[in-house]
Amino acid sequence: MPHSDIVIIGGGAIGLSSAYYLNQKGFDVTILDSNDKDLYNSCSWGSSGMIVPSHIVPLAAPGVIKQGLKWLLDPESPFSIEFKPSIEMISWLLKFRKAANKKHVKQAADLLRNLSMDSRSLYKKLNEQIDFEFETKGILMLCKGEKTLEEEIAVSVMAQNIGMKAKNLNPAEINKLETGMKTEIAGGVYYPSDAHFNPGLYLSSMKNILINSGVKIFHKTKVHSINIDKEKITSVNTEHDNWKAKNFILCAGSFSSKLVKQIKLKMPLMGGKGYSISIDDIQKKPALPAILVEARIASTPMGKIWRLGGTMTVTQGSTKINNRKLSAMVRNVKKYYPEYNISSAQSLKPWVGLRPLSADGLPYIGPFKKYPNLIAATGHAMLGVSLAPVTGHLVSNIISEEGSDYDMKLLSPDRFN
Ligand SMILES: Cc1cc2nc3c(=O)[nH]c(=O)nc-3n(C[C@H](O)[C@H](O)[C@H](O)COP(=O)(O)OP(=O)(O)OC[C@H]3O[C@@H](n4cnc5c(N)ncnc54)[C@H](O)[C@@H]3O)c2cc1C
Repeated sequence: MPHSDIVIIGGGAIGLSSAYYLNQKGFDVTILDSNDKDLYNSCSWGSSGMIVPSHIVPLAAPGVIKQGLKWLLDPESPFSIEFKPSIEMISWLLKFRKAANKKHVKQAADLLRNLSMDSRSLYKKLNEQIDFEFETKGILMLCKGEKTLEEEIAVSVMAQNIGMKAKNLNPAEINKLETGMKTEIAGGVYYPSDAHFNPGLYLSSMKNILINSGVKIFHKTKVHSINIDKEKITSVNTEHDNWKAKNFILCAGSFSSKLVKQIKLKMPLMGGKGYSISIDDIQKKPALPAILVEARIASTPMGKIWRLGGTMTVTQGSTKINNRKLSAMVRNVKKYYPEYNISSAQSLKPWVGLRPLSADGLPYIGPFKKYPNLIAATGHAMLGVSLAPVTGHLVSNIISEEGSDYDMKLLSPDRFN
C-alpha cells in the first residue's frame, strides 16, 4: 500500500501552500487532487488574486442578512441562494445568522488582520523564490454612492483603530492615483498594505517547486472515502490506490465537509459560487486593483490581463452559470470605469469557482477532536488565496507540534459542535 508521512487531500492554494511549509520542515508529503494538472477548476485558479489585510470584517457581519434578503429579490444582484431545502443548508444559514453580530466581528477583525499581514509577509518571501506577478500597490475601495462611501469610511476607521493603514480619498485624489483608467465615483478608500498576484501562476510555480523538492502530486485522483481505526485515520481510498499516512490534511475546498461527513464529522460548509472573466486583448486597463463596492466586483490588473470577479451564490455544489447575474457583473463595471469597453468582455469564456464558506466567515484550521491526525485547512470563503501561505505555515506548525500565537479555538473545525 502506498504511504507518506503526510497525505494532503486537495491541491488548490491551501493544499499546495501547506505542502510547501511541511516539505520545508522535512516531512515526506503527498498531494491527492481530483483536478486536472493545471488546476483550472479549483477555486483558487480564477480568483481575483487579492491579498487583503484590509478585509477585517468577516463575511458573517451585522447588516449582511438584511442586505442579502434585499438582494434575493433582484435577479441581477450579486447575491443569491440556490435553495434546495436540505438539513445542511438550513443548519448552515441558521449558524451564519447567529454569527452575524458585533461581538463576532470584533473578535474576528484582530485575528483576520494578523493572519493577513503574516500571509502577506510570507508571500513577499515566496516571491524571492518564485514568480507569480506579486505586486504591492495597495487596493482601492471605489464607491458610487454617498451612503456606501460613508459605510466604507466607517470600516476604514475600524481598520485604522487596529493598526491598518487606510486613506479616504475624493474623486480627484483617486483619479490622480489611478493612472490607468478614469473612474467615475463619489469617493473611496485606499489601503496601501494590500497586494495582488496572479493565482494561476502561483499554483503552477508552487507546483514546480514542490515537485523539484520531492513532493509527490497526483492529479485526477479523488479521495472518495476515509478509513478509521478507533481515534485515528488510517488511510484514504482513491479510485486507484489506498493511501496510508501518519497525518492527513483536509484541503478539499468547498467539498471538504462532504468528505468528512462519512466519518460522522460535522463541519458546516457551503459553496459560494462566483465568476471571473479575464480580458487579455486590451488597450486600457486600471493600474490599481479595486473593489467596486456596490456591485461587489473585484477588478484586478494581473500582468497583461484584467480580471473581473464577482457574484456570490450560496450553493451545495452547483457550478451552473447564471447568465443574468454574469452579464450584470460585466455591465456594472462601466459605471465605475466609463472608458471600459464592454464588448471586450462580453464574448469571453467565464470561469466559475466555489468558495469554501464556513458558517461564521473564519477558516477551519486545526485538528479534529475525534481524529487528531486529521487536520482541517479549509473554509476560507473570500480570503483563501490571501491566507494560503499563513494557513500552510500554521498547518506545518500543528504537525511539528510547535505553538502558535493565534487563538486557535476561533479556527477550530469543531467550534460548532
Ligand atoms: C470569483 C472569485 C474571486 C475570488 N477572489 C479572491 C481574492 O481576491 N482573494 C482571496 O483571498 N480569495 C479569493 N477568492 C476565494 C478563494 O479563491 C478561495 O477561498 C480559495 O481558492 C480556496 O482555496 P482552497 O485551496 O481551499 O480550495 P480550491 O482552490 O478549490 O482547491 C481545492 C482542491 O481540492 C480538490 N478536491 C476536492 N475534493 C477532493 C477530493 N475528494 N479528493 C481530492 N481532491 C479534491 C479540488 O479539485 C481542488 O483542486 C475568490 C473566489 C472566487 C470564486
